[in-house]
Amino acid sequence: MAKILIINLPAYGHVNPTLALARELSNRNHQVSYLITEEFREEIEATGATVISYSERIKNLPSVESLATHVPIIYEMALDIGASYDCIIYEMVFYLGKQLGEVLNKPTVHLISTFAFNKKIMDNVLKGHAVKPEISHQRNALFQHYQKSLTDVPGLNLVYTSREFQVYGEDFDPKTYKFVGPSISKRIIKTDIPFDSLKETVIYISLGTISSISNDFFKTCVKAFSGMDASVIIAVGKKVDINSLCSIPSNFLVYQSVPQLEVLKYTDVFITHGGMNSVHESIYYGVPVVAIPQRADQPFVAKRLADLSLGKVIQNDELSVENLKSSVNEVLTNPVYKLNMDKMRELMINAGGYKSSVDEIEKYIAAHLEKAAI
Ligand code: UDP
Repeated sequence: MAKILIINLPAYGHVNPTLALARELSNRNHQVSYLITEEFREEIEATGATVISYSERIKNLPSVESLATHVPIIYEMALDIGASYDCIIYEMVFYLGKQLGEVLNKPTVHLISTFAFNKKIMDNVLKGHAVKPEISHQRNALFQHYQKSLTDVPGLNLVYTSREFQVYGEDFDPKTYKFVGPSISKRIIKTDIPFDSLKETVIYISLGTISSISNDFFKTCVKAFSGMDASVIIAVGKKVDINSLCSIPSNFLVYQSVPQLEVLKYTDVFITHGGMNSVHESIYYGVPVVAIPQRADQPFVAKRLADLSLGKVIQNDELSVENLKSSVNEVLTNPVYKLNMDKMRELMINAGGYKSSVDEIEKYIAAHLEKAAI
């Protein structure tokens, strides 16, 4: 049994894939503490882990981007409590994780919820940035620090994708990079989606938890799919007032947010922003996509989907009723997308998921203990 400290920032895309990992560690009798905000208490406690909240230290939680500015505060807290743990596991957004592990002299594990990065990939991602934000000097320094942490990594890096989906997968040392595939397990489900009365064809639309669906985007979807013999499920995002949207056609089901894993079981095509979790979840359920990348690494992820013919990509500034309609039709009617998705699904599942992750963590801790004993 090991005492394990997991450190993360409060963003669903980064927390969701750690839930199955935390549960599997707890199930194998490891004692897991999870440093995060109150917002995630219920979901994390359901895994068997103990929540150590830093909400008190970080008042007025800012947007996800500027959360990075709080990493040093979380670092100080982790430093205070870290000595009593046998292993530190940090999610990639906690960019001081490697440093923390070195100062505490603990085996340290890096969780990667996007593609793994090397210089080549970093340059490509930066080139494809959908939006180039104007950032202050201080934010720029933070960004540089974050960027460096993506390639300056500890001895064990768990990547939630398959080596086959990873861009330049062959570049990564198999001793330190383990491509374990998506970490997907049951989530708490509260929904009134009438799954039993959905039409034969289901289109699911979500732009993730950070980007919301704008009124214009919504109107484009309405024009493209109203009257079609398909159910259209839309998760507009928590910040959107559904009443402010244009009138909703009868084949549309509009929600602030949905239990995505459940919805994907019924979905034939997923219109997504290309967030890495959404993409992995889509692959996991063998659902081809139409990706409309919005920001960050999404253009790069979308390009990978198109290169492997797992779906179609529409650039945000080229979005129109016509190309949305034709891309969705192409993905629904050309069997190549579903076929490729099913093959990729198999590779992802064979990568081992959260069980392999915990196997690797256990081996890694044992190797450190052995080394320390010599
Ligand atoms: N998600 C969900 N319901 C929604 C929208 C999103 O459960 O209505 C989940 C989704 O399953 C995924 C995460 O939120 O695990 C979004 O992560 P992703 O990396 O795709 O995008 P981000 O939100 O980080 O942009």
